[in-house]
Amino acid sequence: MSGPDDETDPAAERKMRFMFQLRSRGVTDPRVLEAMERIDRGLFVRGQFSDRAYDDTPLPIPCGQTISQPSVVGLMSQALNPGPRDTVLEIGTGSGYQAAVLSGLCRRVYTVDRHRRLVQEAEAIFRQLDLHNITAQVADGSRGLPDQAPFDRILVTAAAEDPPGPLLAQLKIGGIMVVPVGQSDAVQTLIRVTRSEAGFDYDELRQVRFVPLVEGLGQT
Ligand code: SAH
Repeated sequence: MSGPDDETDPAAERKMRFMFQLRSRGVTDPRVLEAMERIDRGLFVRGQFSDRAYDDTPLPIPCGQTISQPSVVGLMSQALNPGPRDTVLEIGTGSGYQAAVLSGLCRRVYTVDRHRRLVQEAEAIFRQLDLHNITAQVADGSRGLPDQAPFDRILVTAAAEDPPGPLLAQLKIGGIMVVPVGQSDAVQTLIRVTRSEAGFDYDELRQVRFVPLVEGLGQT
């Protein structure tokens, strides 16, 4: 017998392809894959690019910014390796997609963006998804979030020339920060900074391309 149940559900097939793509690009941590399986990237991409929401590509979002490539979101989450009791600071809320993925991996996420419009739109999606452990705020993330510091993990999703000093200072001993560094218009290097009693250790992870970390608040 054949009927509607025998036909492949397009949403399920899309998700299967999306998850396969992540694995084939090196996202292998089961916790990260599970967190990404739960968050529908289609909610974070609107307008003319929405039909490409499940492609492994960065896409434009309002305020001239971009939502990161899904595999890069996965690889960064994996490198950050947050534990279930950790407090994470994300710099660069953008669409809110990375923060939503992090919310499934840790106890609390603070995320900041210099554009008010992006923070407001991301907050609406967090509410819609019942993600109550994310606090989004308009702030200049190059200064970190001193009121909530120190953090177990810090993820910077905009490129800085060097890891910003205030962010290093707001990382707990034993904490990890993942940040793309390099000139804004060039290819940048994703680095992982681990803080120990003795100081900071730096590992280079891969080449990436992010919009620049810009000081001060945006106009919108
Ligand atoms: N993590 C996002 C993608 C971020 S794009 C996502 O999942 O969609 C980089 C973001 O960093 C942009 O939204 C930009 O406005 C923000 N940004 C750049 N400089 C900043 C700063 N100094 N403080 C806070 N946000 C900043």
